[in-house]
Amino acid sequence: MSDEAVVPCVIIGGGVMGLSAACAIQERRAADHLSPAVLMEQHQVVEHKLGSSHGPSRITRTAYTDPVFAKLMKRSHQLWHHLAASTDVPLFSECGGLMIGQKDAPAMTSVIQALKETQAPFEILQPAECNRRFPGVELTESYIAVVDNTAGVLFADRIISTLKARFVAFGGTLCCDRRVVSLDVQSDDRIVITSQDGNPHGMTQTKSTEPSFAPATFTTVASRVVLAVGAWLPSLLAQAPIISSQFVKAMRNLQVEMSLDVQEVTVSYWKIKPEFQDAYSLNKGFPVFIDMDAAPGLVYGLPEQDKPGYMKLCLHRGPSIAADGRSFTPAEEIWTQFAPYVDKLFPGLDVKTPPFTETCMYTMTKDEHFLIDRHPQHRNLIIAGGFSGHGFKLSPVVGEMLAQLALDAPLAYDMAPFSFEHHWKVSSL
Ligand SMILES: Cc1cc2nc3c(=O)[nH]c(=O)nc-3n(C[C@H](O)[C@H](O)[C@H](O)COP(=O)(O)OP(=O)(O)OC[C@H]3O[C@@H](n4cnc5c(N)ncnc54)[C@H](O)[C@@H]3O)c2cc1C
Repeated sequence: MSDEAVVPCVIIGGGVMGLSAACAIQERRAADHLSPAVLMEQHQVVEHKLGSSHGPSRITRTAYTDPVFAKLMKRSHQLWHHLAASTDVPLFSECGGLMIGQKDAPAMTSVIQALKETQAPFEILQPAECNRRFPGVELTESYIAVVDNTAGVLFADRIISTLKARFVAFGGTLCCDRRVVSLDVQSDDRIVITSQDGNPHGMTQTKSTEPSFAPATFTTVASRVVLAVGAWLPSLLAQAPIISSQFVKAMRNLQVEMSLDVQEVTVSYWKIKPEFQDAYSLNKGFPVFIDMDAAPGLVYGLPEQDKPGYMKLCLHRGPSIAADGRSFTPAEEIWTQFAPYVDKLFPGLDVKTPPFTETCMYTMTKDEHFLIDRHPQHRNLIIAGGFSGHGFKLSPVVGEMLAQLALDAPLAYDMAPFSFEHHWKVSSL
């Protein structure tokens, strides 16, 4: 089967980044009465839980140690408000964020500096004051706390549904269950995309099964392609048949694949003790939480809301995997390292009861900067990846960046920190 017409822009990947780009691109094209953009997703957008964007909640905040991201958050928060105004469903809660760390930790100094520079509203709390205000947390004297008043919870699943509906409402074409199996960049205005129907990697969190039917193959010719395939980017780059060999060679030369590390991260939900039943509740004002320099590594948490009676905590790292090779089993360190940490800091969480766990994927770069750039040899192929476990809150900005690149519009952002050039430099250090 072959589609003869040249599609102006195809976005590959229906996670939060692909959807945000698709909405920004299609909104502009619809306003100019131009033919629709197409979004291809290997599973069902919204329903599938095999990527990095699913689940009820994500943290948003300005409190970053890296000023590059803190500065972008102002625009991102404006765009979240813009998106929220388009629907009756609440998309976020501005509950604030509690950032903690040791008093002498460089991360805390950087966070305070970034908040000052961006003029974001924040407060500094000494341990006793923090413990009084948030009885679910117990800080010893060595800590300092910063409350970022711009922080909050993003309701991720609702956001994905809203973006999908918005793309379709703007006239975009959504192709679900379409796995792109090859890209052939033939010129600066022509990319041949081969995709297959069906769902060869399974929709459930069980062992992958091969489909018992031969999948239909489709050929689509596009002027522009935005590749936003999340954790599948490294394997796409590594497998020569998936993408033209010239492209793979160029990528290898840039050493980009070396700086992308897919990790399987464990999310854990800890039972709240009855005597602390209101202490962690979103509705009662418990904020999002980040320990910037915890002994087990950066730790973050979200107030009780997703699972009543439980608080969600996550260690910001996990074992390296391939996107199609997940174990779906929690990391052992949840019990060995994480439980003692939780016990010490959260007096209201019951660490004797094993937590509920689930896993998700991060695509890490060496310095946690995103990769958002045109392919160095092919201007019409735009690549987005390496969102390093903190991309969701910035997805509206990433969508704008990708739309500007795809539509050849003037760039409103400094793209240098996200360029191939940047990642090449960092990975060669
Ligand atoms: C547990 C966890 C907690 C997080 N917490 C936060 C947080 O609090 N705050 C924050 O800002 N960020 C957070 N993040 C990070 C954020 O969720 C990710 O950065 C973001 O979701 C990445 O989106 P994506 O679109 O790049 O990837 P994905 O959501 O994985 O989307 C990629 C899509 O591409 C599709 N695809 C892949 N290959 C193909 C192909 N060949 N053909 C067609 N489609 C294809 C996939 O099926 C997938 O749907 C968290 C991530 C995790 C895992």
